[in-house]
Amino acid sequence: MYDFEIRHPPDAGGHFNGFGGKYAAETLMGPLAELEAAFYASWEDPEFQAERLRLLQQYAGRPTPLYHARRLSEEIGGAQIVLKREDLAHTGAHKINNTIGQALLAKRMGKKRVIAETGAGQHGVASATVAAMFDMQCDVYMGREDMRRQAPNVFRMELLGARVIPVDSGTATLKDALNEALRDWVASCENTFYIIGTVAGPHPYPLMVRQYHVVIGQEARAQSLEQFGRLPDMAIACVGGGSNAMGLLHPLRDDDIRLVAVEPAGYGLDGDDHAASLAAGRPGILHGNLTYLLEDDEGQIKGTHSISAGLDYPGVGPELAAMYEAGRLELETADDNEALQAFSRLSLCEGILPALESSHALAAAMRLAAKMKPEQMLLVNLSGRGDKDLDTVMQKTKEDAT
Ligand SMILES: *Cc1c(COP(=O)(O)O)cnc(C)c1O
Repeated sequence: MYDFEIRHPPDAGGHFNGFGGKYAAETLMGPLAELEAAFYASWEDPEFQAERLRLLQQYAGRPTPLYHARRLSEEIGGAQIVLKREDLAHTGAHKINNTIGQALLAKRMGKKRVIAETGAGQHGVASATVAAMFDMQCDVYMGREDMRRQAPNVFRMELLGARVIPVDSGTATLKDALNEALRDWVASCENTFYIIGTVAGPHPYPLMVRQYHVVIGQEARAQSLEQFGRLPDMAIACVGGGSNAMGLLHPLRDDDIRLVAVEPAGYGLDGDDHAASLAAGRPGILHGNLTYLLEDDEGQIKGTHSISAGLDYPGVGPELAAMYEAGRLELETADDNEALQAFSRLSLCEGILPALESSHALAAAMRLAAKMKPEQMLLVNLSGRGDKDLDTVMQKTKEDAT
């Protein structure tokens, strides 16, 4: 089911068809080179890979199931919808695949402290989780505004032994937390490992995070052949930074399968209240790499909005930008309301409460499935479970009732 070949690697500078690279402070060039060497060495080390797989299986609960959503498919009357159940992984989302990999690498490099950035708190929780397991000190940077909106996740991280450091700069949200974490790392890289939460940041992060997540698509591919005797016609995932999307889609990109990324349209693409970096952005430099991002005419990063905090990021992983420009990635968007409708529909129809992030992928999947034939198959990455979103959904339901 799993293999360790690195397919479609970036060039020596970390570029994917020109996107990506290493736009970082001079002082980080050494630590990034050290990280890159350590990553490649660990990737070739059978003992490291065996330990990583052991944890993915015994601790995170892999492989996650592939589930044919029969009732939903029947209701829609188009393609068969099949769900990759990352919502069943430990901590409730795909993010644990990545933090297990990076924490193991940190341990191998002899680092005693890890830091992470977080928006909604999901990556912070996944980082605090593995830090507890590996007995490492863990500091998580989080915008003060996000801390207010996501108080339960702050408490969760603290219960896991992490320290949450409030960030007041900028808009006090995810992009500012990322900047602050990079600043910490410049000063602390001697003893500290920076666990980035998605396929962004300077090289080698986009490559590394992708490789830690390809288990998703490798499993889905094998499960699809075993359970249905065929591969899907289309695979679809939501995109915040793009880690669950790269995890699912990368192992399928050499197959004859349509690959679709779904970006959050928030209140609509005609205003600024969305986070659709590919659909409405342009190339520029953000958090150490060249990619599509949302900026104003002065080059200031725009404030973004999505009902799902995990998609609320003004950039996108560079490799997705490259796949998009190469015509290998189709683009869809779903707005807040469409995501809420998809959330409700999957809950009622299949008894699964999806994360609001995943609900974006579902919304687009339902739209696309309706135009396909019943003998076709559409694979959706159900990146996380919806329990964390109950407050948001409850509030929205109340607003709509008044
Ligand atoms: C964080 C998160 C996302 C978005 O991050 P990607 O790196 O784009 O995958 C999507 N779904 C869930 C459930 C998340 O927690």
